[in-house]
Amino acid sequence: MAARRQLGRVRRLVVKVGSGLVTSAATGADVDRIETLAAEIAAVREGRQVVLVTSGAIVTGVARLGLGGRPRSIPEKQAAAAVGQSALMWQYDVAFKRHGLPIGQVLLTAQDLSDRPRYLNARNTLTTMLRLGVLPVVNENDTVAVEEIKVGDNDNLSAHVAALIDADLLVLLTDVDGLYTANPAEDPTARKLDRVDAITDEIRQLVWGRRGALSVGGMATKLEAAQKATASGVPMVIASGSEKRVLARLLAGEPIGTYFAPKADKLAARKRWIAFAVPPAGRLLVDGGARRALADEGKSLLPSGLVGVEGQFVAGDVVAVVDAGDGHEFARGLVNFDAADLGRIRGAKTREIEGRLGYRSFDEVIHRDNLVIV
Ligand code: GLU
Repeated sequence: MAARRQLGRVRRLVVKVGSGLVTSAATGADVDRIETLAAEIAAVREGRQVVLVTSGAIVTGVARLGLGGRPRSIPEKQAAAAVGQSALMWQYDVAFKRHGLPIGQVLLTAQDLSDRPRYLNARNTLTTMLRLGVLPVVNENDTVAVEEIKVGDNDNLSAHVAALIDADLLVLLTDVDGLYTANPAEDPTARKLDRVDAITDEIRQLVWGRRGALSVGGMATKLEAAQKATASGVPMVIASGSEKRVLARLLAGEPIGTYFAPKADKLAARKRWIAFAVPPAGRLLVDGGARRALADEGKSLLPSGLVGVEGQFVAGDVVAVVDAGDGHEFARGLVNFDAADLGRIRGAKTREIEGRLGYRSFDEVIHRDNLVIV
């Protein structure tokens, strides 16, 4: 329970609200809910920095345009998002202005999180806004991001944002008050979990088959978000957005919702990015000895343990490290060589590298500082 009490020390907070909470199919942006949310956030903002991640652009756009239902075609969804996003922001602006809070719109795409320069740029912009006393209001840039390359849901997006800005806490406000051992609507023995220390298969089982039950994401994407956030050292809470003073009470240590404990070691910002933000550009197959050296002994990856190279990548890309024996991806890292050169030094001893490449370079394929065990 100690961890909950420490929530009072949270200085940088990311709050995510789902479409179900701030919009309704009939009217789009729900003014009353948005005003309540603004008041709740304003109440906890003293001495804290808050980032709001909001869904609801598409629902609001659909209502505005009188489309009579969520469009199927991607361009229509994107058009609806464009209309809805500005309407939604306008409501937030009005609501936060009552509390003297300036807001700023930040629309992110998956590439902003995966491309290193853009990632750093997004981070700098968000932290500058916070420093200036602005409340960033974040959504995915639905208007330009097509389905295949999207983060896809704001649960995962908010976890990326929390990691991006080194938040102390991520709160997902939704229409249920936490993670249950079974569906409370069907099973009277269902019990709410107060705390989850590790996202085990047992925990994952709790949400299988229930994906999509709520809004876009449902519990499955919330667990994915918990996985990302906690692995980045950021605790996460799933709580009901209809609970009165939910944020203030959470920050006072009340056992509201389900708390996901952070993994003890806070990964360095770069390691986080390596682990989660980018799809790997290739795969390195390594032998059992190299796997042990990396996973158990915290060593760097050397060419001698490398048995295969897959994909086209250049030095500096993120690659997956895979056990050639069982095909399991167990690490990711920033690679020091491009794919063609790695093919030449595969299996080589350190002293052979220069001879094989014809130039002097790194000893390690991936230095341990640029390596994350996943
Ligand atoms: N970005 C979407 C929207 O604003 C919602 C995604 C989600 O709800 O997870 O409409």
